[in-house]
Amino acid sequence: MKQFILKIFTLILLVTTILGLFNMRKITEKTYVTLDVDYLTILKQDLFSLMMAYPHDIVDIEIENKHTVYLILKSGEKLLYDDLKNKTETEKLQNPDLQDMMSELYLLGPVNGLMPENYNPGRIRVYPLLKEVYGANQVEIEKNLTGIRVNSSYHRFNSNNSASLHLNQALDELTHLLKDAPHLWSYLHPIGGTYNFRYISNTNRLSPHSFGISIDLAIHKDDYWQWTSRKAGEKRLMSYPQEIVDVMEKHYFIWGGKWGLFDTLHFEYRPEIIIKGKYFNSQPQTLWYEKLPVKEEKVTNIILLIEERLKGFIVLFSFHL
Ligand SMILES: [Zn+2]
Repeated sequence: MKQFILKIFTLILLVTTILGLFNMRKITEKTYVTLDVDYLTILKQDLFSLMMAYPHDIVDIEIENKHTVYLILKSGEKLLYDDLKNKTETEKLQNPDLQDMMSELYLLGPVNGLMPENYNPGRIRVYPLLKEVYGANQVEIEKNLTGIRVNSSYHRFNSNNSASLHLNQALDELTHLLKDAPHLWSYLHPIGGTYNFRYISNTNRLSPHSFGISIDLAIHKDDYWQWTSRKAGEKRLMSYPQEIVDVMEKHYFIWGGKWGLFDTLHFEYRPEIIIKGKYFNSQPQTLWYEKLPVKEEKVTNIILLIEERLKGFIVLFSFHL
């Protein structure tokens, strides 16, 4: 009899616990307030990378209700950092917030092979930011274009935010490399293209070439995921000269060869992605800014601004169990 009562008691306890867990799940389905160090660290690193990358166009940070972060643009427009939505990769591409754009870490340096198809750092773009920096429409963008000379051909590139300046510097370095490494010539010439106002095929999203911030180097049949197999694409990727990638990354160009949906001839001026990959490629041991060159005044100023604006910030977490 005693054993029977004990069994009933255990059963009641078990049912109560399960019901309790179920209720807790219901509560957390809504919004749960917590202080999450990792979230805060990544938030600050993202804000830093963006402010360093677009120093003339991002002028401030604003916090609403202690938890909603906006970047303030020169025009007065506000860009939301985190919409707290869980999105698929496609939804992120179509309707990203700043956090989505910064979410996949771009690894600098050599690659071991193709990235997985769903890993495409820098392929997500927040268009209001690009429009603010490089021009709101085709007419405005074209006013900001400048001529770039490559060997004997001319191409157009956006001069805002030092994009054309960095491309010119990169091309000078690559031309210099050619003297000792003539095999690089076939990867560089003829240039595939730069400015071209067009939509990405089968989408309603503008190509980064539309803003004059991307360059396609010499075209090869196995350069694009839609043209070839992953096997042939990887073979081409592994034969691609690392010197070219290094020079381009040094000048804040991300490489389409590091996208799972590879675009090996494509380089895109995305300083925010390079800065994040350079300084924040591992979890900090102590401070979120421990790897930054804090002796540089502009670096210190941005760190101080972030710390000041985020005082009293509360991390809001949305659970979707
Ligand atoms: Zn391209």
